[in-house]
Formats: sequence, structure tokens, C-alpha cells
Amino acid sequence: MDTMLAARMYGKQDIRLEQVAIPEINDNEILLKVKSAAICGTDIRMYMNGYKDISEDNPRIIGHEFAGVIEKVGKNVTSYKEGMIVAVAPNMGCGVCEFCTSGKGHLCQEFFQAPGINIDGAFAEYVKIPEPAVRQGNVIPLDERVSTEEAALNEPLSCVYNAFQKVGIFPGDNVLIIGAGPIGIMHAKLAKMAGAANIMINDLSKERIEICQKVDNSFIGIHSNNLEEAVMNITKEKGLDVCITANPAPVTQQIALKLMAMEGRVNFFGGLPKDKEKVILNTNTIHYKELVVTGSTKASVAMFNKTLQFIAEGLVDVKSLISNRYELKDIQEAIKSSRNATGLKNVIIFN
Ligand SMILES: [Zn+2]
Ligand SMILES: [Zn+2]
Repeated sequence: MDTMLAARMYGKQDIRLEQVAIPEINDNEILLKVKSAAICGTDIRMYMNGYKDISEDNPRIIGHEFAGVIEKVGKNVTSYKEGMIVAVAPNMGCGVCEFCTSGKGHLCQEFFQAPGINIDGAFAEYVKIPEPAVRQGNVIPLDERVSTEEAALNEPLSCVYNAFQKVGIFPGDNVLIIGAGPIGIMHAKLAKMAGAANIMINDLSKERIEICQKVDNSFIGIHSNNLEEAVMNITKEKGLDVCITANPAPVTQQIALKLMAMEGRVNFFGGLPKDKEKVILNTNTIHYKELVVTGSTKASVAMFNKTLQFIAEGLVDVKSLISNRYELKDIQEAIKSSRNATGLKNVIIFN
């Protein structure tokens, strides 16, 4: 039996490095040799809290932001070949419902599979790409200008782009992102690409604001103590055209409405903890300001493709978001660093 090194999660705060069998593929599947796999906030939440059906008896390899080289293709797979360098959009739908057939497979209610979430993922030397992903175009050959580590970071970028499209950011807009994590910075980067006038980033942590200003010193960092005053100063009392909440704090959704200009657009990007999901909003603010309040979750394959193109064309730089690179054998250290949130993205690199 051929084996590979894999980081398997057995439950809450229990990830073990083990030698496991290299996945077998059938005639319709692909075996991918992982080159880069980024650690995501979702991975950290799964690790800290445990995850549905992952247990001592049912361990799982996590990691859903990845790219690599095709090692082997099943004999019915005609669109891909061994040796192709590809990124993989992780979310698969059923392929036939009204969402899937309109290119919104991430909203499919019939079927959901994603490597690293409910099937084995990419914190391993190899990952199996199942048939729905192969059929639905989730496997995307990389432009030679995009590295595998940039492609790994494209997954969260594609989710950010979903929100970007929901709110529509236009030249001259005043934009506030609440939450200065890697996701918040990606929102800020897309706002900049679109020509936003003032891109403000707010966070509780001064340190995180400093980190994001290091990434781009045109971003205006605002510490939470004086958010309203700062926003009104910067926007000359007009308020925000766009506000995106990229954090799990319910209060930021309430604050967002207060800071909006007339006809402002809001996106609640960050989901809230289950016990805090009921938030009191002043709906008269929405009414009288004619606000558009949106949500977004995950990303479609089309969005994933689009943001890969942004990276290839140099419209968005994601490299500057990588804080540290680790080998798989040092995954515990990488997780610890991501948990402390002292940097931005940590990426597992494979030789
Ligand atoms: Zn992710
Ligand atoms: Zn579907």
C-alpha cells in the first residue's frame, strides 16, 4: 500500500500527523498532488470547536484552499491530463438543480460536498478530486502567471468577490470594512481595484490595523473607539457608500446601518455564532436611507475563475497576505500561529 503524510482531525483540538493510504480514484476522478494549501478561519473554527461527524472513529483531513499538480486521471476524464497545474474550487453542487444550472452551484440545496469540509481535504500530500468537481469545472488549469500559493489564496478571494458583486463598489465610493483580518484586507483590495475613494478598515486590534496598513498604506485604519466620528470626518458627513462586516460580532451589523450614506449598500459577510445570530436592526434606517442590505456565502465556480484572472492580470496582489510558509510536518505550529491571529495567511507548502 502506498502511503502519504496527512494531517487528520479526530475531534476538537486534535489533529494528528499520520501516514495514511494515498486515495484511490475511480474512472471519473482525479488524484491531485498538493503543492500549496492555505489555512483558513474555517479550519481554525473546526479545530477549536470540533466539527459535525468528525470523531475518533471518523477522522478527516481538513484544508479546502489549495492547488497542485494532477498526478493521475481516471480513464473517463478527458478534459484534464497528468502534469497539469490546477486550482480547485472546493464547493460542489448537484449539477442539475436551478442554482447549479444557472452557475450558482454554491447555493445548491440538494447536495453539498467540499474537500476539507465534509470529505478529505488538502492538508496531505495527495487529495482525491471527486467526480462532481471534475464534471462541474471546479478543476481549473492555472495561468502560468499564477503560483500555486496564490491560487490557494484565491478561494477566500472568490468569496470576497461574491460580496463585492452583491454591493457593487464604484469609483469614488467611500468604503468601510469592519474586521482587519486577511478577509477584510481582501475586501479592501477589491475596493481599491474598483477605484474606491476612501477605503477604511476598522478593527478592535491596533496591531491588526497596523498589519493591514503594511500591506497597503493607502488603507485608512480606524480603531473602534472613534469609528463613527472618523467615518463622518473622512466622508465629509455623508456616510458610507459601502460597508462590509468581515467579522463575527453582531454589534458591527448594527453599527454598519448607522454609518451609511443615503442609498448605501451593506454586506454582512461574516457569519455570526449560532447563539448570537438574532440581531436587532433599526429597519427604519434601511427604509429612510433606502439602503440595500445583502448577504453572501461561499462563491461560485465562475467567481473563482474570475478572481484567478484578477491575480493573473496583476489587478489584485494576494502574495502580500502570506505571513508564513510551513511544511506539512509543522502543521501544529502553523495552526497555532493562525489561532493567535498575529499574522495574515499561513500556507502549507509541499515539495
Ligand atoms: Zn476558507
Ligand atoms: Zn444543485
